[in-house]
Amino acid sequence: MIPLPFAANEFYAVLGLGASGLSAARALLASGAKVAAWDDSSAKRDAALGAGIPVANLVDLDFNPLKALVLSPGIPSSFPTPHPVTVKAKAANIPIVCDVELLVRGQAASRFLGVTGTNGKSTVTALLGHILHQSGLSTEIGGNLGPAALGLNELGANGSYVIELSSYQLELMQTRGLTAGVLLNVTPDHLDRHGGMDGYIAAKKRLFGLIKNAGTAVIGLDDEPCRVIAAELQAEGRLKVIGISANRTVGGGVYALGGRLVDDTAGRAERVLSLEDAIALPGVHNAQNAAAAFAAARAFGLDPDRIAQAIASYPGLAHRQERVAMVSGIQFVNDSKATNGDATSKALACYDSIYWIAGGLAKEGGIVGLDPFWPRIRHAYLIGKAADDFAVTLKGYVATTMSGTLEAATRAAFAQARADGAKDPVVLLSPACASFDQFANFEARGDAFKSLVTTIARETQREGVSA
Ligand code: ADP
Repeated sequence: MIPLPFAANEFYAVLGLGASGLSAARALLASGAKVAAWDDSSAKRDAALGAGIPVANLVDLDFNPLKALVLSPGIPSSFPTPHPVTVKAKAANIPIVCDVELLVRGQAASRFLGVTGTNGKSTVTALLGHILHQSGLSTEIGGNLGPAALGLNELGANGSYVIELSSYQLELMQTRGLTAGVLLNVTPDHLDRHGGMDGYIAAKKRLFGLIKNAGTAVIGLDDEPCRVIAAELQAEGRLKVIGISANRTVGGGVYALGGRLVDDTAGRAERVLSLEDAIALPGVHNAQNAAAAFAAARAFGLDPDRIAQAIASYPGLAHRQERVAMVSGIQFVNDSKATNGDATSKALACYDSIYWIAGGLAKEGGIVGLDPFWPRIRHAYLIGKAADDFAVTLKGYVATTMSGTLEAATRAAFAQARADGAKDPVVLLSPACASFDQFANFEARGDAFKSLVTTIARETQREGVSA
């Protein structure tokens, strides 16, 4: 738990008692602060009370003595409709912050690296954590990914925190405490929460205001909003700007070209890694992630060879094109985190002989627009509520089976792949859908797939023994 000495004898309100709110309330109390906490869910309030956290309805509380309102990033403070407690805090001129802001203040002697972007945040955060760790640095990763910020270990002056920052969290941060920041990409997302694209871009841009003077800004140059931000930062001159790209040369930057990662940060293009060697980072999108992580690690002063080796040995995150097992020459890949068509397109681009398991609760647009990938799909196995709609989209292009359940789909895909005997076959769970019609969340769906694959592997092994 992170000590927050600045909070001693001060009064904080905490709104939202999920993992981050609970851990913020605990850290504040342990640091000698007075706390009033609230959640609109009575079950969450009861759980907090049970954990010894004082609960009070913040709408009725006198805000004058408050030092700050600690807000869970999931609760809106402006769009689409601000929570009434945030309206009250703004009227009373009380700062509204998130737990990561308290972490940065609490560990001011540590180095902080912030990672944001529409896609790839978790991958780059975990990859950077791995690189720093492999380079012998005392490192913790967290924020939007993994453990709540204030539940991390205290690292002090010799430690580094790699923090995944969502646009919601960025809106709730103020302290200029980052050594370096990474903005991977910006494409339309969460627009309802930011009042449109301009608001979303403004939230992402806040990252750079949080970087210390002469710190490093790593920016993906593969989309227009990021290119504009990079040019603005260059003109401003406060930060060292390093451009990165997944598909073109960047003078003074880091980029992927022809399957190689190239480091030009020292003014001479040096090939540092063959991306094929980074098995857990397939596809062009991951080339962007690898380039960003490389550039940020260089900004931390790490040795380029060490960084390249660490990228190659990165084990990957669960549920993101996770290689589960190879059974009878058939690769099983768990991409359960792909909950929309765009995310699924990244996985479909990586393999040539795909037995595709898709479906669940479709997002707007479903799988329309993925047509360029149809020739790579040998057969589709459809599950969940979206199955009928997806079958209509695929009709005439891809052979489909209405499997209904994940188990039926996985077994049928394996049987067909074995029967076909194609080169490098992949059974890919990349549903392009949310999971809530059949599972608690995407993690539960991915775990179910993995345990099925383990069963199938065992059965196949037994078959081999008895044959
Ligand atoms: P985030 O934390 O931003 O949601 P993740 O690293 O968890 O991102 O990746 C989620 C999905 O987003 C991946 O499964 C992949 O489909 C896609 N993705 C990952 N990195 C990128 C990238 N750099 N550009 C575009 N899409 C990406």
